[in-house]
Amino acid sequence: MSLDNGNLQELYQAVILDHNKSPKNFRKIENATYDRLGHNPLCGDKIELFIKLDPTNTKVEDIAFLGSGCAISKASTSMKTQTIKGKTIEEAIATFQEFQQLLLGKLDPSKEKTNLGKLEIFSNIWKYPARVKCASLAWHTLKSTLAGENVVIKTE
Ligand code: ZN
Repeated sequence: MSLDNGNLQELYQAVILDHNKSPKNFRKIENATYDRLGHNPLCGDKIELFIKLDPTNTKVEDIAFLGSGCAISKASTSMKTQTIKGKTIEEAIATFQEFQQLLLGKLDPSKEKTNLGKLEIFSNIWKYPARVKCASLAWHTLKSTLAGENVVIKTE
């Protein structure tokens, strides 16, 4: 992306509003492999994440969500479902890790190449730590679920 900060900010707002208004994959998955709840009490975001693995248990065949939350949590989750669908578990966890670096301001898409695509619009969010929790909520749920960890959403 070769956007200056002004353009990036405009794009960020437009994309967030669009996904908030009409989130992608906003539905329940019947017979999901996992059905997990992520909660960010600081903001009040509650996201129920559905993940269906393929028959070999190595690939995310389908991913969707329901719930309520602020525009950032919904947009981030909506974009996540688009990015993760069809990926292997390994690829999904790698994407989580890369996105996490971006949210923490440790990955700058204007200087380094990333595999995050549209998710790069979140690259300035590290300046607002409370919003980082909103943007990362459903990603932590995804990662801990796929990595087989106990689902504890960190909110410190
Ligand atoms: Zn929030």
